[in-house]
Amino acid sequence: MENCIFCKIVAGDIPSPRLYEDDKMIVIRDIEPKAKLHYLCIPKTHFALLSEMDGERAELLKHCFERIAEIHSSLGLEEGYRVIINQGENGGQTVPHLHIHLLGGEPLKDF
Ligand code: AMP
Ligand code: ZN
Repeated sequence: MENCIFCKIVAGDIPSPRLYEDDKMIVIRDIEPKAKLHYLCIPKTHFALLSEMDGERAELLKHCFERIAEIHSSLGLEEGYRVIINQGENGGQTVPHLHIHLLGGEPLKDF
């Protein structure tokens, strides 16, 4: 998708160290961390919203959550973490390429 910052990161056009990568997703550090550890799990396929879900995208997100469950300790999240997917304007989504925030590394405040 043209002009999508996360598509550019996935394509390598914008450099961003990958803490994990496979054929379907990458994990990078958020550039403006909101917790001691703040990662973004970015599916390699572009879509913006959960409301655009279809079977293929559901499989993609299933894959992402399975990998997150496997790799969270290697990211320093073994004491627990928060998973956030912001959706649309009221949800605070600023990048319209669906992504999963992983926050942790310290006790997180209630919200
Ligand atoms: P959201 O507001 O849920 O759409 O999340 C977008 C996130 O992407 C924000 O937390 C930003 O700090 C983060 N972000 C934007 N540009 C970059 C970048 N080049 N590398 C890493 N994280 C980024
Ligand atoms: Zn994109």
